[in-house]
Amino acid sequence: ANDFDPNVYRADFPILERRVASGASLAFLDNAASTQRPAAVIEAMNDCYRSYYANVHRGIHTLSEESTHAYEQARESVAAFLNAAAAREVIFTAGTTASINTVARSWGDATVGPGDVILLTIAEHHANIVPWHQLAQRSGCRVEFLPINDDYTINDEVVSAALQRFQPKMFAMTAASNTLGTIFPVARWTKLAHDHGATVLVDAAQAAPHQVVDVQAWDADFVAFSGHKICGPTGIGVLFGKESLLDAMPPFLGGGGMIRDVTTSGFTSAALPEKFEAGTPPIAEAIGLAAATRYITAVGLDRIAAHEHVLCEHAESQLRQIDGVRIVGPTPDKKGGIIGLHIAGVHAHDVSQHLDTRGIAVRAGHHCTMPLHHHLNLAATARASFYFYNTIEEADRLVEAIVEVQKKFAPSGRKRQKRS
Ligand code: PMP
Repeated sequence: ANDFDPNVYRADFPILERRVASGASLAFLDNAASTQRPAAVIEAMNDCYRSYYANVHRGIHTLSEESTHAYEQARESVAAFLNAAAAREVIFTAGTTASINTVARSWGDATVGPGDVILLTIAEHHANIVPWHQLAQRSGCRVEFLPINDDYTINDEVVSAALQRFQPKMFAMTAASNTLGTIFPVARWTKLAHDHGATVLVDAAQAAPHQVVDVQAWDADFVAFSGHKICGPTGIGVLFGKESLLDAMPPFLGGGGMIRDVTTSGFTSAALPEKFEAGTPPIAEAIGLAAATRYITAVGLDRIAAHEHVLCEHAESQLRQIDGVRIVGPTPDKKGGIIGLHIAGVHAHDVSQHLDTRGIAVRAGHHCTMPLHHHLNLAATARASFYFYNTIEEADRLVEAIVEVQKKFAPSGRKRQKRS
């Protein structure tokens, strides 16, 4: 039995009351791209700008001290959210993309050389592929990919065999696929990778919104996620790194705030976390992010996952009955609240456009996973992605609209209409 009532939380999200251009009420099912923000997050940022905002770390005046305190408190909140051993292991970045680029540049340039291997899964987002391709161009290392099974999962044996064969310097994996929804066993694979001497980076962009991220339980060396996917602001994300690794790495961006000393002949770096935070950081965004971590923790990450599972099961049991509709992703027990869809003979953009006329926001395209789409021999998919504020009624609206799409656009649907 599921006693979760999304309507309790919907009241916190003013934007969910909106209507779209067609006049239909909004069913926001594009949460894997970016979630919406509750009033608590908007107010935390408003309060910063209205009452105590100033630049951090440098000023000896009241507002700067208050802002610095709030910014460092935000780091403490995020450290608690991740169960990091120390707040200095939490680096504020511009987002998952910036976090992974920081590791590829800083750790990568210092560690990787010609012939070395970076191991990825084929399900990675471009943010966890392109920085490694760029590292390969600079260093002469190469990038290898783990294939995915027909059921959209990857077996431990395949991971072990690749680790054995390639002896990678780095295994960089997503904790959950933004296209398929598949949840990967991070702690198990991290153990396997460590047994083979690899360093592990986890792209937690799609995990942090929906499951407890415990960096110590995972034992991952680096973990990246974005604020805007967990009800927080845009323009901020996190790079968690084990202190010993971050300490040994050279800074990536240079500038104010990341130095201890600068002379005409060189510089020395500040200690963690400042070493990796050159320039004025996203101050109000960090404060908003901390509010978001508190908000979703209060909702309860286990309850969020359970509710999304209910919505997925409810929608998929009906979608599977529709002619020509293929669910591109594993069964709901193996994934988060993402439904990847392919409808025979219908372009994903037509799906998305028709759904918009019904007020339903979904995404269509390759979702920044072109190698995965190529691997699956698909040009594009339509993706509905749930969050805790979505309702069973919205899941039903999705199904009804997909039935309409099938009738309107699919060759089989059109044929059936003519006959009847
Ligand atoms: N990795 C995954 C799995 C994602 O879903 C996303 C966002 N779609 C990213 C990385 C990139 O996140 P951002 O755009 O916030 O840097």
